[in-house]
Amino acid sequence: MDYAENILGTIGKTPMVKMNKMVEEIDALVLAKYETFNPGNSVKDRMALQMIEDAETYGALKPGGTIIEGTSGNTGMGLALVAIIKGYKVVCVLSDKQSKEKMDILRAVGCEVYVCPTDVAPDDPRSYYSTSARLAKETPNSWYVNQYDNPSNCKAHFKTTGPEIWEQTDGKITHFVVGVGTGGTISGVSSYLKMKNPNIKVWGIDTYGSVFKKYHETREFDENEIYPYVTEGIGEDILPLNVRFDGIDGFTKVTDKDAAVYTQRLAKEEGMFLGNSAGAAVKGLLQLKEHFTKDDVVVVLFHDHGSRYVGKMFNDDWMREMGYID
Ligand code: PMP
Repeated sequence: MDYAENILGTIGKTPMVKMNKMVEEIDALVLAKYETFNPGNSVKDRMALQMIEDAETYGALKPGGTIIEGTSGNTGMGLALVAIIKGYKVVCVLSDKQSKEKMDILRAVGCEVYVCPTDVAPDDPRSYYSTSARLAKETPNSWYVNQYDNPSNCKAHFKTTGPEIWEQTDGKITHFVVGVGTGGTISGVSSYLKMKNPNIKVWGIDTYGSVFKKYHETREFDENEIYPYVTEGIGEDILPLNVRFDGIDGFTKVTDKDAAVYTQRLAKEEGMFLGNSAGAAVKGLLQLKEHFTKDDVVVVLFHDHGSRYVGKMFNDDWMREMGYID
């Protein structure tokens, strides 16, 4: 018989899928690391498991404890699955720009959900950063995850995602392209791949309204780069410790409109029903096309599933209201 002991045994070992129509203008082989095959439908299951197991090991998370996190949804889902199996409670703090589907899904797996305003400074007491820190202080036997600065986030990708990509491409990967939020995925995968072959180039996908690209180019934190944006899952108005800028060769920014339109196109042209950051990643990849040549093997990582965006990027009324389609 071949079965997992529980749902956590199905995390990782996701497939790699060749991209076809949408990347016709690129000479190289383009492969998608397809993270929606994780049980929580996103890459975040990997780091949720690693962060919880490390916190158990160093004693920050004790039996029956409450896990508290400011999360855009996918990390909350991963934490919830691990918590269900291991017997913890989960409190998630979200910003109000996140899709309603994400909030409903978190409640469905037993999380307590708090929603905070997006358009306030990170140090404002109403922000989701401040609210999660306050709840962590006030709740007995609780542990505040802090995926932005928690090194176990990066470590999960160094230990699992990076080696899988290396093995699935037979060590032939030349470029890795991925959306950046906390930075865990890009930094963990980059450290592993560059350890195996320092010539591999790693590109981050950023949004307009986020500080990453400018910081990478100037090493200056420019507040003028910060303004509200629609794209979900990537870009930040802070510099998380998990974004290790030295391991990243460059960033390209994708507009909200392009990210939304390319998310729809992925579903219709590749049969890939994926989240908003996947659309941004494909558009970013096309923006970088002059960096790729015929024999290159380019891997792009797709973080999450389309079901979480049916009220937004997969809803034509919403797309029209936003001015993204006619
Ligand atoms: N896309 C989606 C949909 C996400 O939820 C996240 C996590 N915020 C990312 C991309 C970025 O991944 P990371 O946090 O590892 O940089």
